[in-house]
Amino acid sequence: MTENGFVQIKNLVLEELKKLYVPQTVSLWLEPMKIVSVGKSSVTLSFPQYAKTFAEAQYGEVLREKFSAVLGAEMDIVVVSEEEVPELDMPEEKEVSAYKMRFSKDYTFENFVVGKSNQLAQSASLAVSQHPAELNNPLYLYGPSGLGKTHLLFAIVNKLRADHPEFNILYVTAEEFTTELIDSLAKKQPMIFREKYRTVDVLLVDDIQFISGKMAVQEEFFHTFDTLFKLNKQIIIASDCAPKDIGNLEDRLKSRFEMGLVADIQPPDMELRIAIFKRKAMDFGYNVPFEVLYYLAENITTNIRQIEGSLKKLKAHTLITGEQCNYAVARKVLTDFFEQAKSEESVIDRIFELADKRYGVTKEQLKSSKRNAEITVARHFCMYLIRHTTDLSQNSIAKLFNKKDHSTVINSIGFIERKMLNDPNFKRDIEHIIAELRS
Ligand code: ADP
Ligand code: MG
Repeated sequence: MTENGFVQIKNLVLEELKKLYVPQTVSLWLEPMKIVSVGKSSVTLSFPQYAKTFAEAQYGEVLREKFSAVLGAEMDIVVVSEEEVPELDMPEEKEVSAYKMRFSKDYTFENFVVGKSNQLAQSASLAVSQHPAELNNPLYLYGPSGLGKTHLLFAIVNKLRADHPEFNILYVTAEEFTTELIDSLAKKQPMIFREKYRTVDVLLVDDIQFISGKMAVQEEFFHTFDTLFKLNKQIIIASDCAPKDIGNLEDRLKSRFEMGLVADIQPPDMELRIAIFKRKAMDFGYNVPFEVLYYLAENITTNIRQIEGSLKKLKAHTLITGEQCNYAVARKVLTDFFEQAKSEESVIDRIFELADKRYGVTKEQLKSSKRNAEITVARHFCMYLIRHTTDLSQNSIAKLFNKKDHSTVINSIGFIERKMLNDPNFKRDIEHIIAELRS
């Protein structure tokens, strides 16, 4: 394979790693790696001397996982230091700090494919970007994960930036809003925070469900909202559920969220999925025949995000082997990917049901950041079971629960292991459950 092929593969892996780690980690430890060679069952990577030992110990496992996923085959990782391969010289990569920007620029109205299930959300978003603060204020978009809410938010940002360069536009996730607020309180500088949020022309807050149960954050957000609203500034909110379904949310916020236009996004039907996948393949610079698009659309039904993973996998495979992209190859490369995703989904759903039965804690509560005793124990229970019944890595499990890193998962596993040691009945229960889930 050409060095250009290596660069493409490395980039695909880096994209995955960027979903797991903060930019500093990626730029310090992971971006410096270079692919020396790709064999049938191993990938040799070189690292600068300073990073080699740490990267190998700390990220060896996740690199193995991600290279295997991207290349579509189980791959071992061999790590060497750069000095050992002096002849290797690869083009410089883009700065990580530009990553987020570049990423958001990819999301526009032009490349958002419209169908019945997302039409209202799309047209409302477009209207808001054409007439900010005139119609639909606030605009509240909601729907399950992976159906294009963030895409629409970025599309609004990109269009407004182009049409109104003078506007002060701020996009944040509710989590970032929360972190900044806590930071400003710790530094005793709430005014700087308020100044920032209350002087924008357009505020977009993604994944607002994150503030569920966080009363101090809700208080601050309420005042932010009210100030902007009175100044006739546009507010756009995205969430995984309708305002009334966000648990532990103050009524005054609920009623404000419902004041403008509330638009939902439903899962796409087959026709829309094919259209979206076609578009994605095109954006990806990858020529995918209809039979393959159809195969993808049949298998990816609930979360459009999976399309990117499968296209990348397919592209990497055809790049390496030189095989054509057709139905047979797609099936060969992706069957495992789909089957694994399906069976893991169903096991995980069953685990969530068990937690509900046993502890009376819902999936939403488990995925929230709430920490009362009941929820915490139920979360330990689920994480332990998922770790023992699926192939998900600790990091993927952490992500499933909206946690930043895998230390939470390690703690949870430790907690359950101790409890099993001290309580034979509990141990028996857990063993039964695992046997049942595996069967
Ligand atoms: P959400 O924020 O709802 O979880 P995202 O906006 O992150 O979902 O979308 C997940 C992926 O699916 C993104 O890559 C996005 O571009 C893509 N996507 C979803 N819906 C569409 C659509 N209608 N047209 C094009 N791409 C879409
Ligand atoms: Mg999103």
